[in-house]
Amino acid sequence: MRRTPEKEERPREALQGWLPRRGENTRSGLLDKLLQRTAPHLSSLERHDTALRLLNELWDSLRAGAWQRLWPAEKLGRAGSGYQLPYDAWRWATVAGDDPVRRCRRCRGVTHHNLRGICPVYGCEAELERPLTADH
Ligand SMILES: [Zn+2]
Repeated sequence: MRRTPEKEERPREALQGWLPRRGENTRSGLLDKLLQRTAPHLSSLERHDTALRLLNELWDSLRAGAWQRLWPAEKLGRAGSGYQLPYDAWRWATVAGDDPVRRCRRCRGVTHHNLRGICPVYGCEAELERPLTADH
């Protein structure tokens, strides 16, 4: 049996893998939901394999060319080595009137990304409602 470290012994950093260790993660789950709509002829296993292949190709793209300088490999404390997007590389923007916000019918999560009406929340299989108006 493995001893669970006390809270103050745990590293503050936590690394998340790009690919799921087993099963799905947020990224592969979203791709699976998208493939269910865009390629309904694929089996569950084929969707999973396609999602992992797409994530691998995306990772390779993010690690090459102009993107490469944004993802330097670095030691991240006790958590190990990894890639971290620097804080000054993030860009924030307000949502404008021509970029509508949508809400999920079930989990009520809000997003301004509309990927074929798919709720982007991991594990939620519901659809997004029509765009919210200013009175919501
Ligand atoms: Zn949802």
